[in-house]
Amino acid sequence: MKIMNGLYNLIGILIFAYLVGSFLNVVISRLPIIFKLKESNHDFKTFNLALPRSHCPHCQHILYWWHNIPLLSFVILKGQCYFCHTPIAKRYFIVELSFILLIALCYYQAPSLSIFLSYALFSALALCIFFIDWETLFIPDILNYLLLWSGLLINTHGLFCSAQDAIIGAALGYLGLWGFYHFIYWTSKKEGFGYGDFKLLAALGAWCGVSELFNILFLASLLGLILAVVKLKKMGEPIAFGPALCIAGFLNLVYPQTFNLLNWSRQLFGSG
Ligand SMILES: [Zn+2]
Repeated sequence: MKIMNGLYNLIGILIFAYLVGSFLNVVISRLPIIFKLKESNHDFKTFNLALPRSHCPHCQHILYWWHNIPLLSFVILKGQCYFCHTPIAKRYFIVELSFILLIALCYYQAPSLSIFLSYALFSALALCIFFIDWETLFIPDILNYLLLWSGLLINTHGLFCSAQDAIIGAALGYLGLWGFYHFIYWTSKKEGFGYGDFKLLAALGAWCGVSELFNILFLASLLGLILAVVKLKKMGEPIAFGPALCIAGFLNLVYPQTFNLLNWSRQLFGSG
């Protein structure tokens, strides 16, 4: 990055990512529960992103401070609860490590501070959406809307595309997948996507612009097949499309030239 060069900047940014990754795990664990409780008019003074204090979901024991150190605690505790020895979900470790790696990639790819901060915001929201949808087949509206509105706001200054491209991208992202969903339902009586996917593609359209929608959908379809194999899904079983959309959106935003269908076809068939 031209603006922030130097080892100290990189170390500072990675420490920030190390601490934020831990908070993202709280969001991923608690947001789906908060949404379920919301449906039953639960009192959010007793359950929110801050309360109750971190505890083992199996034995309910409140954790000591040194059980909550990102990455290190998982290694020190050998992936088990200190009290009842129930295995701790590997996702905690994976999210914390992934966010540090994503921020490092963003740092090396961003040509300016504003683009780096935008990449970092996108990565944090997309990582939460990835894991929540992966685990629950559900994307909380608040995450999709934060991604959508921040994308539109950032592109009012034309950071990744013009404001007009961002608005049309958001509208067509939603309507395109909504139309495809109804086409699939009309022809096969099966639901191919969830409404969260329409909103997520709208958000990606707001960040990357209307011209990138087809590329994002193409990449997401390829990645969706790979993720289905990774998750050992059988034919006909519901598959979360959100994780594939998140990776496709990240690659399109941060590596627009590398992960580009048009560039691939030019290389395959020649530019002439
Ligand atoms: Zn326990």
